This record gives sequence, C-alpha cells and structure tokens, in this order.
Amino acid sequence: MNTLVNYVRSLFLVELFRGMGVTGRYLFRSKFTLEYPEERAPQSPRFRGLHAQRRYPNGEERCIACKLCEATCPALAITIEAAPREDGQRRTTRYDIDLFKCIFCGFCEESCPVDAIVESRIYEYHFENREDAVMTKSKLLELGEKYEEQLAADRAVQAAYR
Ligand code: SF4
Ligand code: SF4
Repeated sequence: MNTLVNYVRSLFLVELFRGMGVTGRYLFRSKFTLEYPEERAPQSPRFRGLHAQRRYPNGEERCIACKLCEATCPALAITIEAAPREDGQRRTTRYDIDLFKCIFCGFCEESCPVDAIVESRIYEYHFENREDAVMTKSKLLELGEKYEEQLAADRAVQAAYR
C-alpha cells in the first residue's frame, strides 16, 4: 500500500509542490539574512571575541600576575611568567594566549579578580603565520588601550550578571 501511495505522490510531484509552498510562504516575509559586511548583527555586551588586557585610568596595568586565568583555562591556552618589578609589585613578564588552543569560553575573564583580561567584541581577524596566532602581552595591552571605552562600558553592564 505504501509503495502505491509513494508512487502516486511522486507521479504528481507532491513533495515538489509542498517545497515550493514553503518557499512561497517565506518569499514576502522580512529577511533573516544581512548584507554583511555593510550590515551587522547586533552584539551582546557579553560577546566573547578577541582578548585584550586593560589598564587603570592612570596607565597602570591591571594584571597582578595572580595566574588565576592560566589555572582556570580549560584549553591550557594561557602562558604566564611573572617577576617583581623594581617597585616590588608583581607583574607579568610574559602573557601569551595561543588562539589555536583557545575555545573562547570566557573562563579567564570570569576568573580575573581585577578585570584585567577581557574578551572584546572583535571577531574579524586573521593570521598569516603561526606566530600571529599568539596574543602576546604587548598585543593584548595595545587592544585594551584602543578599545578601553567599549570594554569599560561592557564590563559595567556585565556587573549586573556577576
Ligand atoms: S577564553 Fe577560555 S580557552 Fe580561551 S584563553 Fe580564556 S579561559 Fe582559555
Ligand atoms: S589577567 Fe587577571 S587572572 Fe590573569 S594573571 Fe592577570 S590578574 Fe590574574
């Protein structure tokens, strides 16, 4: 019986017309797609993009080299080396994030007691060699300085969730 039904359905192109019906229903509805890159989807203040390191308004690095982010990173993507500065304060001498390992989980950001390591809204980047995939301390601080206004505003919104 099933074979006969399937034969009749295929003979009269039932599935084809059902498919065209779905196409027709969506033809005049508002579109879900965007004309990227001219049009952009809205981003959440909790978006987890490329990392950055922040400074305090007086220019001092926030990071105190506590290594919590390194310990909590499930992908072992963070490498930190630290030493005391001349003024006795502990600071990182090396802070690398390997983006080939990073899964953008945000645990580093969540664990940081001083909001030093954060994830920005940047999602458009590329690498031309393996070395570029390692975010060094200088690259992270540079991004932090460039986007501080947005990063601070996003942290203020996120404070409500923490
Ligand atoms: S986002 Fe997650 S995986 Fe990436 S460096 Fe931070 S803790 Fe590690
Ligand atoms: S970024 Fe934050 S959690 Fe990581 S070592 Fe610096 S202060 Fe500690």
